[in-house]
Amino acid sequence: MPELSGMPPTRLLYYENAYVKEFDTRVIKILKMENGETGVVLDETAFFPGGGGQPRDTGLIENDGMHARVVRVKRHGEIIIHFIDQVSGEIREGDKVRGVIDWNRRYRLMRVHTSAHLMSQAIRQALDKPVEIVSSGMDLEKTRLDFTHKGSTRELFPQIESIANNVVKENRTVKIRLMPRNEGEEYVKKFHESLKTLPPQVSEVRIVEIEGWHACACGGTHVKSTSEIREVKLLSRSSKGKGIERIESTVQKP
Ligand SMILES: [Zn+2]
Repeated sequence: MPELSGMPPTRLLYYENAYVKEFDTRVIKILKMENGETGVVLDETAFFPGGGGQPRDTGLIENDGMHARVVRVKRHGEIIIHFIDQVSGEIREGDKVRGVIDWNRRYRLMRVHTSAHLMSQAIRQALDKPVEIVSSGMDLEKTRLDFTHKGSTRELFPQIESIANNVVKENRTVKIRLMPRNEGEEYVKKFHESLKTLPPQVSEVRIVEIEGWHACACGGTHVKSTSEIREVKLLSRSSKGKGIERIESTVQKP
């Protein structure tokens, strides 16, 4: 997108603090897309643009004279674009605005995302082997983990669930740190994880650790401690073939 060249990177509030629900900022640029969509670039943002299996945020941008729905958020290099619709009033470059995250949705995704990290280690403990997680994903309803294992894990469900819920009850802190890549690589090894899926040019990694339980490189938003997950429930298993097992799980509502 040529209009974006030379623009400063958007400050990413969700990296600094995942609990920012509302923020005051300024409109840097309004982009009129060929397909008729309107994109808004802000000075800083708490809107998560999606990544690491976690869906992007929705919400509002507003001020006294204007109100717009943020329907989609996209990362373009170091710049975050907020796509808006249902605009009432006028939005202009330079305007002061307030961003409001759809918090119920985002907070649930934070709980679901942290539960996915927690589950990967619960599965390894129940199976008593360092399975490799080959793929993962999540939505508001559930998380899925695909990992290397031959045969059904059905019989182990009570055990996996009990291990996972013990870690929830232990109220372990979720720590986030930036590390040089080689240091991060060594660090996550203790938890049977690796950084091999990261592009080679990445020199600094963001390590998300459920203290003493699990650590991996992740750019998502997470709860501060495992008790916020409240309860993990296993939903189903299936075989994806070629020695890959899938487990789907969810977290207690709300
Ligand atoms: Zn993650």
